[in-house]
Amino acid sequence: SHRITFGPLVAAIDQGTSSTRFLVFNSKTAELLSHHQVEIKQSFPKEGWVEEDPKEILQSVYECMERTCEKLTQLNIDISNIKAIGVTNQRETTLVWDKETGEPLYNAIVWLDLRTQSTVESLINKTPGRNKNHLKHKTGLPISTYFSAVKLRWLMDNVDEVHEAVVSHRAMFGTVDSWLIWCLTGGKSGGVHCTDVTNASRTMLFNIHTMNWDPELCKYFGIPMEILPSVRSSSEIYGLMKSGALSGIPISGCLGDQSAALVGQMCFQDGQAKNTYGTGCFLLRNTGAKPVMSDHGLLTTVAYKLGRDKPACYALEGSVAIAGAVVRWLKDNLGIIGSSEELEKLAASVGTSYGCYFVPAFSGLYAPYWEPSARGIICGLTQFTNRSHLAFAALEAVCFQTREILDAMNQDSGIPLTQLQVDGGMTSNRLLMQLQADILCIPVVKPSMPETTALGAAMAAGAAEGVSVWSLSPEDLSEVTSEKFEPQINPEESEFRYARWKKAVEKSMNWET
Ligand code: ADP
Repeated sequence: SHRITFGPLVAAIDQGTSSTRFLVFNSKTAELLSHHQVEIKQSFPKEGWVEEDPKEILQSVYECMERTCEKLTQLNIDISNIKAIGVTNQRETTLVWDKETGEPLYNAIVWLDLRTQSTVESLINKTPGRNKNHLKHKTGLPISTYFSAVKLRWLMDNVDEVHEAVVSHRAMFGTVDSWLIWCLTGGKSGGVHCTDVTNASRTMLFNIHTMNWDPELCKYFGIPMEILPSVRSSSEIYGLMKSGALSGIPISGCLGDQSAALVGQMCFQDGQAKNTYGTGCFLLRNTGAKPVMSDHGLLTTVAYKLGRDKPACYALEGSVAIAGAVVRWLKDNLGIIGSSEELEKLAASVGTSYGCYFVPAFSGLYAPYWEPSARGIICGLTQFTNRSHLAFAALEAVCFQTREILDAMNQDSGIPLTQLQVDGGMTSNRLLMQLQADILCIPVVKPSMPETTALGAAMAAGAAEGVSVWSLSPEDLSEVTSEKFEPQINPEESEFRYARWKKAVEKSMNWET
């Protein structure tokens, strides 16, 4: 057998909430050559708590890398063609480790986690006028359980090991990108402790205007600045892989997952947007060089900065906590489906929720409400309702939540989106895509290569100064194929269902009173 010759290849580590992937692309065509995926365990030690094991996360990365390299070798593709590795990751998830032993000092607290709800409520109560947007002028974010600062504060207050490590100057804080880059570049023997501007912008400790950690914010949350990683652009060489088959290859791209998807979907122009359906659901709209503050409950976030000397781009973001997570809940908690894929068939068997509405506010409600005390609610049940209707209602919930953030986005920007570019694990569900077009009353467009998050990170890595292998230009992308879902129901019916959904949301926020 002979070796197939390719130009330079670029790779990405995609460390998501539900799984880790390693993927290798041809940098000339963006073709996905090989990949491997490993599911990540989530633990729920108490009501509202969500944790993951940092060592399992790291191990899954090594496993995905090794298996992908094996697959490439079987395809007669020489792994020495891989010139750069990008990292993209679940954002906000918070870790603290000991820089001398290299050991994590607690599990990773996952972004969805609600343990900081009372801390958040008391912080908001102390602001003038009980204003959850008290820090928004610097951070672009409301005070919420979602972001890293309150999770880090909780670790320092509640975990002795973390407290002691901070006091004795051995603690390192990071989001998942920082943890992985530190470990992969050598860990306790010389690992690089850094993050990129997109991940930093989700901590609530980062000033999105000055693009630096903010001493006032750190003081506000009582976080010593020495435990923070250095903040770098999203595309530059951070360090080299220290071990394994890919040892010596530069890690030269880093983007939070939603930013990476924006890049991978080529939304580089002011006004372009994408919606990603994973564990949660995230609609980001590029606003160019200017941070735009929302009047409708959206976040202002750093979209990307593709090079040390390149300008930062910002985005407006609508974040929905629970999208694919509701599918996992139907599978793991109710047992009404055996796999995520079964959901589509079950829901399609009835084709209606029969008046049942399901608001999966398991982690409170994020955009546009930012209401941590909201809880899940299923209403409109009758004797007739069965698990198929419930499955349908779960899919509709994802679509209605997207409708709410799209409406907010359109109001903020004044220029309505005329179609929605989508990606993420849930978009393999064709019924969901059709329902989404019906509920938004605009077409939904899905690229045929679904791994846009990884592609974005690989592009950032390949384009880094000192690497520069990425040669994909917008002209090449005319080759990229996509699938379009057109709205099929009439707008009145769509509006009627949406109005009912809004009533159900009201109940999820007020069901205790
Ligand atoms: P993340 O990046 O958050 O880990 P992914 O983009 O990998 O998420 O998507 C995984 C999520 O999508 C899971 O929550 C899973 O339940 C959901 N999912 C995957 N396939 C389907 C499907 N066919 N129908 C509905 N949901 C699905």
